[in-house]
Parts: sequence; structure tokens; C-alpha cells
Amino acid sequence: MFALALHGGAGTIARTALTPALEADYRAALRAALATGTALLAGGAPALDAVEATVRSLEDCPLFNAGRGAVFTHDGHHEMDAAIMDGATRRAGAVAGVRTVQNPIRAARLVMEATEHVLLAYPGADELAREHGLPLQPPAYFFTQQRFDQLQEAIAAGRVQLDHAAATASVPDPNWKKGTVGAVARDVRGHLAAATSTGGMTNKRYSRIGDAPLIGAGTWADERCAVSCTGHGEFFIRAVAGHDIACLMAYKGLSLAEACRVVVHDKLAPIGGEGGLIAVDAAGQLALPFNSEGMYRASRNAAGEEVVSIY
Ligand code: ASP
Repeated sequence: MFALALHGGAGTIARTALTPALEADYRAALRAALATGTALLAGGAPALDAVEATVRSLEDCPLFNAGRGAVFTHDGHHEMDAAIMDGATRRAGAVAGVRTVQNPIRAARLVMEATEHVLLAYPGADELAREHGLPLQPPAYFFTQQRFDQLQEAIAAGRVQLDHAAATASVPDPNWKKGTVGAVARDVRGHLAAATSTGGMTNKRYSRIGDAPLIGAGTWADERCAVSCTGHGEFFIRAVAGHDIACLMAYKGLSLAEACRVVVHDKLAPIGGEGGLIAVDAAGQLALPFNSEGMYRASRNAAGEEVVSIY
């Protein structure tokens, strides 16, 4: 028995801004990523391999704000964050502010497996990826016109915004792409893992680091649960969202669903923490709560039932 959940970002996903054709593209990309992870888990692969492959598939798709298609910083660059964590061993790796790595989630795993560190940032992280032969790309690879336009609008409005906030901006553009990405899995041995990858927030100050690469905030896995978050990162950092779910389960005896509900609706929402998360527990139960208008998501539960949803 195995279970898998993934997300492609949460936020104000306006139904009016999503044309039927674009919605079909998102659903197809989410389904393809789910199929990638499912095939690995069904073949007995570790949860760690499944979440990495699932996230890679989403990083390669320009529809999502991770890898190819990442949002722009205020000064017009891409700075990407990613983290991966293995619940059974509590090993973790993360990168922040990488500018050249095609698949930041691979660099995060490299930090975990090839160094004694947990988090590498900026040129040193790009350099590690280069040394180990990971594919690097020039800025043009990460460029998408829609996200560049989104930056100009965010600068004009003087705001730092969630990728998805653009969908309800003054000029709704059906081509605006959305979504930090993440995956959580429980493999056939009962081990859990989580992975998250993002370009961060549009118009962020250069060198800003979000919640995704911070172990315990946007990404967490132990023997009890695996969690990947998406939303306004500063609030997820202040709530230590991922680890809080593990704590509520461990110290308060809450179920996964209840712990996730408390964090997303009782803790994050009141302080303005718009977003959501995906989580899995050791029994293969899944939770995919969000307090925003929508969250791109897909899952396959322990019974083999697959769901792809946006709202
Ligand atoms: N959590 C991400 C960040 O703040 C953004 C997102 O999930 O869309 O960097």
C-alpha cells in the first residue's frame, strides 16, 4: 500500500481567469506528475525517489512557479528555493536562491546526500550542482513572458505577491501561470518523504528566502507525517507550519486531518497566512487543506483512488 499527494500552488485562483483550455492544461500536468510518482511507488521505490521525481515533473512544466517558469525577483532575476526530507532517517537537504539549476529539487537532494549540510544558498548552491554535473540553464530557460508582465504589474502596484494573486489583478490574464510545487508520499514500506520547489513570490526583494527550503516551515517529514506547504511564505515561516503538524500529532494526539486543519485554518488564517498544504501520515491517510480560493492538487490514496482538483 502506498499514497501520494502533490500540489501546484495555492492562492486566489479566479475561475474567470482560467479558460477551459488552460484548466485542461493544468489538470493534465497535475495528472502526469501524479502518474510519475505513482509508477515509482507501485514499483516499490522509496518515498524519497517518488517525491523527487514528482516535483521534477512539475519543475519542468512552465505552467508552474518552480524551475522552468519561476517568477521574477524585483530586479528581474529568478531565485529558486527547494527542499527534500526523508522521514525515516530525518535527513534533509535544501537550496535557496539558486539561479541556474534546471531542477532545484535535485540540487536539494544533492545537499542532503553529497554534503554534511542541510541548506546551501546563492552561488555556492549553484556551484555544488555544477560540480556534480546537474543540468544548468541560462536565464532565458526560466523566462516566461507572462511572469515578466506579472512582475511589471507588481512593481507598478508596489506589492510583493503570491504567483496566483495575479489572476485577480486589475487586468486578468488567462495565461498567467501559477504554482509553487510539492509532493508527499508514503511508500510500501511505510516510509514518508516530502519535497517542495518554488520560484518564491513575484517582486520579492533579491536574496529573500521563503518557507519552502526551511525545514520545519514549508517542508517536513518524520516517521509520523510528511508535509509540503504553499502560500505566503513569511507566515508559514512564522507559524513553523510543517513541524507544527508533526507536533500536534505527537504531543496532542491529533489525527493528521485535524492537525492540518488547526494549522491551516486556526493558526495561519488569523495571521494572514494565505495558502495550503498537502500531508500524508504513516497509515497512508492524506490531507490537502487550504484557506485560499484554490490550490492546484492531485492525489492517489491508499485505496488507489485518484483525484485532481483546483477549487
Ligand atoms: N511559499 C512560497 C514562498 O513564499 C510561495 C508559494 O507557495 O507560492 O516562497
